[in-house]
Amino acid sequence: MVLGVPLALAQSGTKPVAKQVQTINLTQPVLRPAQPINPIRPEISTAMQPRAPGQNNPQALNRIPTNSSIPEIKKIEYASNGFIEVAHALILIPREDDNRERELAFAFASVQRAFKQRPALEEVDFSIFQKESYGGAGGPLPRMTGSILKTQLSEFLRLQVTDLKRFERIWLNDDRKRPTLRQATTEQETGLKYSGDLSGLKKQQSKQLQLEGGINEGLLFHGSPTQPIVALTFDDAPHPLYTPLLLDILRRTHVRATFFCIGRNAVAYPYFVRDMVKAGHEIANHTYHHVRLIGLSPSVIKEELETTSKILKSISGQTMKYFRPPGGRYSSQVLQSAFEEGLTTAFWTDDPADFRNAGEKTLERNLVKHLQFGGIILLHDNVLDSIQVLPQFLNAALKRGIQVDHISGMLEAI
Ligand SMILES: [Zn+2]
Repeated sequence: MVLGVPLALAQSGTKPVAKQVQTINLTQPVLRPAQPINPIRPEISTAMQPRAPGQNNPQALNRIPTNSSIPEIKKIEYASNGFIEVAHALILIPREDDNRERELAFAFASVQRAFKQRPALEEVDFSIFQKESYGGAGGPLPRMTGSILKTQLSEFLRLQVTDLKRFERIWLNDDRKRPTLRQATTEQETGLKYSGDLSGLKKQQSKQLQLEGGINEGLLFHGSPTQPIVALTFDDAPHPLYTPLLLDILRRTHVRATFFCIGRNAVAYPYFVRDMVKAGHEIANHTYHHVRLIGLSPSVIKEELETTSKILKSISGQTMKYFRPPGGRYSSQVLQSAFEEGLTTAFWTDDPADFRNAGEKTLERNLVKHLQFGGIILLHDNVLDSIQVLPQFLNAALKRGIQVDHISGMLEAI
């Protein structure tokens, strides 16, 4: 397969990608098929998108057996995108043992074990939480996180506690003042829902339908219906297992995307946000706590948006332009607050409901079926199915001559 540049990019480096595909050879598939993963029933309590009744389990993740003499290493999961494997170790340390020496020792033990058990791993990430307060992806921040590339393993294992701040792919929770914790909403995502008086929004939507598309009064419903380009967007980023797999696929396919980041997750895994920026992607605001904003006071909504924009700018260097309400739940107050924060609320035209875990085939079919000029595609960066069907979907878009880019790239083309 030819996408303008050779696809034999087996390394997990963060080489910037070309802006657009130049030449396309459609006689061969975009990528090799993903390697099969033996299903093991996952623990879904830490997933950002919990399973709803009647819906399918998320795709199971493999686990590397942990050492029973180190119960603090709760689990080491790994997944593949068909090219590389990445693992993530979850470490829970009791409060009485909570010091940097111990944390680093457990980080060494888990990373070493993962690389030893699965030499094919490209990267091992870890998250260390305090055991008593652990609340999964929506709970209190971790104590320490890290992302160790295979090429950095020996350097990592030589680190002393005093070196940690200098290691770019380690984040330390230094207890500096953080926004008050607000529990992430665990309600299942169901699609776009508006609360309140619809008349203003309907007026805006009808205006947008008559227009060429693009931003109008802080709202973006779609791009140009006459331009063969769509925007690819991912909600709920970053994630310590899936984000590196997704970034690797996007790098190989030379596609840029917009990542709607959860502020809390960006704080805990800033190196993934930096990886996104280095690869040419766009960072956007998805609130700090991933809360449903409807019903919250204007000052709380403002705090969620403002805090997140500041954090994301400080990590990425980008000024936030776009916002998306968690769970697709919004009201005129939410839209107004975003507008006052200088954010455009970015809706979508195509939600294949990847959070329902309906399987790769269904997801791919939904994606391809709704592909249309000026579309905005909504996927989640923490759904393995989405990562695995992406190459086929991008191939389908290329076959129809439709370019895929991030939101700003799509709008620039109008
Ligand atoms: Zn979300």
